[in-house]
Amino acid sequence: MSDSVADADVVDIAFIAEAVRTAKANALRMALYQVTGDEELLAIKVTRQPGWGGVAMLEEPDEQGAEIVRRKAMTYLTDPNRRKAPPPPADDETRRLMSHYSPVERPEDMIRFGMEELAFAEHPRGVRWTLRPKDAEIEKYPVLIIGAGICGIALAVQCESLGIPYKIIERMPSVGGTWFINNYPDARVDIDSFLYQFKFMKNYAWPERFAARNVSMEYLSTVVAKFGISKNVVFNTEVVSARWDEDASQWLVEARSVDGLTRTLAAKFVVSAAGIFNQPKYPDIEGIASFEGEVVHTARWPDGADYKGRRVAVIGGGATGAQLLPKMAESAGRLDAYLRTPQWIYPVENYKGSTSAHLRWLMRAMPYYWNWYCYAVFIAVADVPELTERDADWQRTGGLISRRNDELRAQFQAYLRDKVRGDEDLIRKLTPAYPPLARRPIADNGFYDALLRDNVGLITERIERITRNGIVTVDGVERVYDMIVLATGFEVEKYLWPTEYIGRKGKTVQQQWGQDGARAHLGVTMPGFPNFFMMYGPNSQPRNGGLYTWAELWSRYIAKAIVAVIERGASEIEVRDEVYDNYNSELDLALKKIIRGEEALGGYMVNQYGRHVTGIPWRSERYHAMLTEESLDDFIIR
Ligand code: NAP
Repeated sequence: MSDSVADADVVDIAFIAEAVRTAKANALRMALYQVTGDEELLAIKVTRQPGWGGVAMLEEPDEQGAEIVRRKAMTYLTDPNRRKAPPPPADDETRRLMSHYSPVERPEDMIRFGMEELAFAEHPRGVRWTLRPKDAEIEKYPVLIIGAGICGIALAVQCESLGIPYKIIERMPSVGGTWFINNYPDARVDIDSFLYQFKFMKNYAWPERFAARNVSMEYLSTVVAKFGISKNVVFNTEVVSARWDEDASQWLVEARSVDGLTRTLAAKFVVSAAGIFNQPKYPDIEGIASFEGEVVHTARWPDGADYKGRRVAVIGGGATGAQLLPKMAESAGRLDAYLRTPQWIYPVENYKGSTSAHLRWLMRAMPYYWNWYCYAVFIAVADVPELTERDADWQRTGGLISRRNDELRAQFQAYLRDKVRGDEDLIRKLTPAYPPLARRPIADNGFYDALLRDNVGLITERIERITRNGIVTVDGVERVYDMIVLATGFEVEKYLWPTEYIGRKGKTVQQQWGQDGARAHLGVTMPGFPNFFMMYGPNSQPRNGGLYTWAELWSRYIAKAIVAVIERGASEIEVRDEVYDNYNSELDLALKKIIRGEEALGGYMVNQYGRHVTGIPWRSERYHAMLTEESLDDFIIR
């Protein structure tokens, strides 16, 4: 954040007026108050209204209040002698400001979470040394990070700023992780870019509100360059296995490069930042190998794949299948969408639109507007987890899940009905049999519109087999294709797979998880695997917000643990058995209270044992608190 407005571009009054007119009034109000101290701004009443198809709650002044904000903002922004930004507020002042932003009182955990999201500090989740050991000591603790996606980069930034030696091993030829591999037509983020970003990268000029795949790649490359990470990434190399070396208290990591060369690397700490959306899931459909046309998985999209004028089948209607269908439909000759389980789809206004020059200018010119804008996006969806909790009182009166969830269902249903112009057959086929948010809902990229095109078909009959020429459904109909697109997702439930980890006393992760699938303490760490951490591990998928936030939180948790070991001159850190067991008992109970369990009807969230293994059962502020109030007593440090 610049402390002066002198570096903002010179623009005319009409431009400023447009920037102010299209600004988020509440965010602008708070930024303006910080710079002017004008108490009248704080007196403006703010109300909460549902937004974004009912998923969010927007907190904004009414029109009269917004007009006052705009008038005062014009006065400030057009004054050539306007005040410079005051220094970032201290915590107490930040709390006071936050209490004026919202019309509702929020729990302490949410306030603390929100303070970080406001990001007044340079690196709000950066870890510091208590007493920095000598460089020669720190050098004895190399960290090996697996994966150069969002999580790996977040941890690398921590290591860079602490001066801890690290290397990232990346199987692909580029940074970006899931954004590198998901290069299918029209791939795009479904979370606002101002939430789906790092808080240590200030005021990034997002060109799109929902970043397309290439925009996300550009962002991650910029972060990597800015924080000097590239030099530490080993590309085109896959970690095959990691074995704990008991005698030397270190991990021995076997890495294989694309040219087949294998080498063993020693590291004091290993962190898997390999993600969960990296291994394509290939469906086990009879005859698939016999198909004589082209078969493409969306996560292995070939450069220049040609579908123009061709007959194409898309198997899978998750976020990927629903997202790519409209783009492919524009030029495919014939396109059939094979949908086994319908998903709830919600409208997003201007989903593919650019951010305006006015917004980008205002973020540079108006001190702290960027902070409040980001906060506005965060807080709007902060209560989403509430929507996934069953309300027993509501259910007793005949409600399905809770008042808000049922209302959301009605809104999504109305959106579907409207989009398919009341076509009862389509409505029946496209209405999910589970409540909204039991699975991750899908931002509408034009899926419903595409289904109405003459060259697009919706097939909901089960697939029986694939032949040389096409697909046969259980009703005996064979449809002929040139290309089959597998939008069938990822091997999510096989956490850490295919890398083999062998911990203390030769224990494998399969032995650790044998009874009912992947588990970890806080989704990050497990007993028997000292000095090993996971990012985006079991049951750690956020129920709201952007992954970047959670990548920062996991990176802080892990970096703190590493710092504790180094500062003590110790060799090992390992979570205690009872801490892991207690956490998982609580987790199992908490999972029963949310609707992502049995209602999700399978999907990648439920593993082969029928256990929900992906999502966090806690409200976000609680999980944030658990990760933030890390207790070293939870670990054995020796
Ligand atoms: P996914 O959610 O796992 O969906 C896979 C789809 O393939 C489902 O419709 C599934 O049907 C279907 N499928 C799998 N095997 C099948 C078979 N044998 N026969 C017929 N259908 C089959 O995978 P995804 O869509 O790639 O999404 C993965 C994650 O990435 C999600 O969390 C998603 O939200 C995220 N994502 C986000 C964006 C975005 O930000 N815009 C874009 C893409 C993906 P069933 O449901 O019946 O199993």
